Amino acid sequence: MTTSRFAPSPTGRLHLGHAYSAALGHQRARASGGRFLLRVEDLDQSRSRPEFVDGIEEDLRWLGLRWDQPPIVQSERIEAYREALSRLRAEDLIYPCFCTRADIVQVAAAPHGDPGLFYPGTCRGLPDDPERRATTPHSWRLDSAKAVARCGLPGWQEEDGTAFEATSADIGDAILARKDAPAAYHLACVVDDAATGVTLVVRGTDLRPSTPIQRLLQILLDLPEPTYLHHPLVLHENGRRLAKRDLAPTLAAMRDTGVDGAHLAKMLATGVVPGGFRLGTP
Ligand code: GLU
Repeated sequence: MTTSRFAPSPTGRLHLGHAYSAALGHQRARASGGRFLLRVEDLDQSRSRPEFVDGIEEDLRWLGLRWDQPPIVQSERIEAYREALSRLRAEDLIYPCFCTRADIVQVAAAPHGDPGLFYPGTCRGLPDDPERRATTPHSWRLDSAKAVARCGLPGWQEEDGTAFEATSADIGDAILARKDAPAAYHLACVVDDAATGVTLVVRGTDLRPSTPIQRLLQILLDLPEPTYLHHPLVLHENGRRLAKRDLAPTLAAMRDTGVDGAHLAKMLATGVVPGGFRLGTP
């Protein structure tokens, strides 16, 4: 039995790409008699809005995709993340980082949380300075070299049977807790997937660079290993990604023009996208 989840960030209205991901995850869960879960990834409080949470639920209902238990909301799970972080800290696998974004310019371009690949290691190996920690905003980073020395390079299985092995170039000193929140994407994602018994992680290929670091965290925290389905993205026919600035039609707008949501979700689950779009990798 498959437990899958749809884990959007409530920072805008959902578009066709989200619908494709949710429809696939839902289809896999239902086909196996398993569960389909909804998780609200709202750790970025500066961009998350309650009205977008309502919008997500409304859009999923319109698509006919029912989730099986009350959605898990990440901003309400800070204690669980704190606990995982303390465990890593007790094992000396994380370190405080005082760098600003300006110190590490490339990070600003990382779409889904900093995978740490560009971090030059400025704060790694600094002597612990409790006073500085008490007075200076800081994040916490994984000491990836120590982590890999401890458990080796992780691998994972895709749903179609393909096996992936991470290389050391895929794993950096990712941020696990942000300056403004005691958790960040990678840590929250693995803690929540495990807490809710997710066995199949369905998400776009754009998130595949996150998988090596997440697998490593699962091993360090003794969490079960899910299978992954990294699916192609829904693109405009000309190959452009769907993005708000690109006038991607929101599901809300499609509903307003009379599209049948349940029919759309069924088509998407079989890999068929509406005219004007195609599946691919940008
Ligand atoms: N919250 C992420 C997003 O909006 C998805 C995270 C995941 O599926 O692991 O793209």
